[in-house]
Amino acid sequence: KLTSVSVIGLGNMGVALAGAFLKGGHPTTVWNRSSEKGDELVGKGAYRAQSLAEAVSASDVVVVCLTTYEVMHELFAPLNAEMKGKVLINLTTGTPERARQTLQWATERGIDYLDGAIMAIPPMIGAPDALIFYGGPKSVFDAHEQLLKQLGGNTTYLGPDTGVPLLYDLALLSMLYGAWYSYFHAHAMLSTANVTAAEFLPYASNWIQHLIVPLLTDPETARALDEGNHATEVSNMAVNRLGLENIVQSSEEMGISPDWLVPIHAIAKQMVEEGYGADAFTRVFEEMKRNGGHP
Ligand code: NDP
Repeated sequence: KLTSVSVIGLGNMGVALAGAFLKGGHPTTVWNRSSEKGDELVGKGAYRAQSLAEAVSASDVVVVCLTTYEVMHELFAPLNAEMKGKVLINLTTGTPERARQTLQWATERGIDYLDGAIMAIPPMIGAPDALIFYGGPKSVFDAHEQLLKQLGGNTTYLGPDTGVPLLYDLALLSMLYGAWYSYFHAHAMLSTANVTAAEFLPYASNWIQHLIVPLLTDPETARALDEGNHATEVSNMAVNRLGLENIVQSSEEMGISPDWLVPIHAIAKQMVEEGYGADAFTRVFEEMKRNGGHP
């Protein structure tokens, strides 16, 4: 008999999660503040609970996907009795610290807790390559791995620390927004000579594929960060520092904010002044670590 599951929160993501459980044949109960968002799921065989208390009582496993942890805690605060002995799998996005506090909150109430981070958009839910990270007690993950695989083939357990899935999530997102910001800055510079994004596209594409991706995905780069070995015969700190200075200076001349480059330029300059001019650019990371991870 397949595990029964209750899905709390039927926003864009919650609807996709409940749909995937139904597709896998799991008896699925749904609850949402605005109940009409469950209409389509009910048509596919979901049971609509009239209250959150009824929803959590209906299944052994409760999957939550709401806007924030604050919303979740507000909704669940009156339900200690109903939640005791249940498995709570929280796929809401928040901070790692919030996820750790929520494990403690759950443990105090006799709730088995897993925290997850969805690295996919709703149409990808259920696909073999949909990546979802989980953290929490291994026994809880093992007991429900098959159920969770309905949501994504790439179901990945990261260990007992419930803060780690969101750490991975935020680290990946930080890379994304950094890339976006640099891309917008590049186009702002180009626009001063009326170069359009479309005109620049072939060069941006080539640069991303043949320089940025190989550099950032080189296992040697990871090793340099992990082991602090920053020797190079390719491109040293002194040369990179001059490159950064040119971008900062010309951005200012063009009236474009060099803001995001200012801290990394300052670190590169300091590294050169401290005698690391011959080292690889990866040494910048040593300075970030020296400041407790803060640039
Ligand atoms: P939506 O805005 O579509 O849905 C938000 C959900 O939270 C709805 O069910 C909403 O209920 C509920 N909610 C908000 N405030 C309250 C409240 N005060 N009381 C009761 N219910 C409330 O968001 P998504 O479904 O897109 O996202 C949900 C979570 O999933 C977020 O943490 C998001 O970061 C994460 N996520 C989303 C992804 C995506 O691509 N969409 C990708 C990866 C993660 P109601 O319908 O009544 O408003």
